[in-house]
Amino acid sequence: MTSRQTTEHTEADPESVESWLVSAGRDRRPGSPLNVPPWPASNFVLGDRRAYSRGDGTPGWEALEEIVGGLEGGSSVSFASGMAGIAAIFGQLPIGSVVALPDDCYQGVAGLAKAGQSRSRWTVHRLAVGDTAGWLEMCGVADLIWLESPSNPLLTVADLDVICAAPRKRGAVLGVDNTFATPLNQRPLALGADVSVQSVTKFIGGHSDLLGGVVTVRDARLLEALRQARELSGATPGALEIFLAVRGARTLALRLERAQRNAMTLAERLAHHPNVTLTRYPGLTSHPTHDAARRQLKGFGTIISFDVRGDAAAADAVCARLQLVQHATSLGAVESTIERRASVPGQEHLPPALLRLSVGIEGVEDLWTDLDRALRNDL
Ligand SMILES: *Cc1c(COP(=O)(O)O)cnc(C)c1O
Repeated sequence: MTSRQTTEHTEADPESVESWLVSAGRDRRPGSPLNVPPWPASNFVLGDRRAYSRGDGTPGWEALEEIVGGLEGGSSVSFASGMAGIAAIFGQLPIGSVVALPDDCYQGVAGLAKAGQSRSRWTVHRLAVGDTAGWLEMCGVADLIWLESPSNPLLTVADLDVICAAPRKRGAVLGVDNTFATPLNQRPLALGADVSVQSVTKFIGGHSDLLGGVVTVRDARLLEALRQARELSGATPGALEIFLAVRGARTLALRLERAQRNAMTLAERLAHHPNVTLTRYPGLTSHPTHDAARRQLKGFGTIISFDVRGDAAAADAVCARLQLVQHATSLGAVESTIERRASVPGQEHLPPALLRLSVGIEGVEDLWTDLDRALRNDL
């Protein structure tokens, strides 16, 4: 395998991310397999640079890191999950650090921050995603500024361009969870962020069949520290997961394009549905942060959050009546999934009848028929 060293990242031509997704991370020597095969190996014959997989990895890691690093515009480290990558970043913080976190964010990250605070490892400030003045103030105070945009599940778009460009406290790290946007819609490092995170479990994998994460950075010291954290914590991705993730990445552009088109159509229709009281989608002009979304995002994504008329039981009944849309958590896959988010532990503060819909690549009219029937209860 003669994969390029990921420390010397090769930036994807922004004009042709589709071609990059298909062609990056391949071994081009004559006789090589076109696709990096899964290497089920824990250890290797000594003498070459690989000895043991927990630290030295497999060629599949390098392929995935090359693909994502090129898209994000930095150098990538792959992890066993998105949370493993995020935990590695939090793990860099010295005791007594200050962390700034959105009030609306992935519940795993909120849980991680809370657990560290309860052990006096750091203090956490929660801010509204749209509170740009508050974030700018935090840039001068916090050691880790953690942003998520669009946020989960309210889909608020932060003024990332302004916040990432602001001067930061010396040594501070600004990280963006870029999972919802994917590097095709948004490139936080180009805006000035230090870290961009993908839960590969979602859009890059795209088929609800793996857990994975990739952290992309610009700074060589942070890159080395994250690689070391991966090795020491054992948060290494498995060979099969990596193989599936690379395979998923090849079709990311196509899947995203289709699902995003579906999402726009469904959001417009849901917004006018008599049994829906509020539809949140960054592509709707009614969305409170639509302007920031238009400024920063190449596409508005595939996630819609809407409130069903009535109470939690009414929303649960809608989920139970759906047939094509799968009643399941997670997002970013080929199949549409829906979940009442306030039913998730730690998410009780959300509107009780809010459903988060991750739109897949099915036929849009089939999806609409399913949703409309379930909402009207006239099966
Ligand atoms: C799923 C998700 C994560 C965590 O990723 P895992 O791969 O499940 O560990 C983090 N952030 C966002 C926005 C997510 O959707």
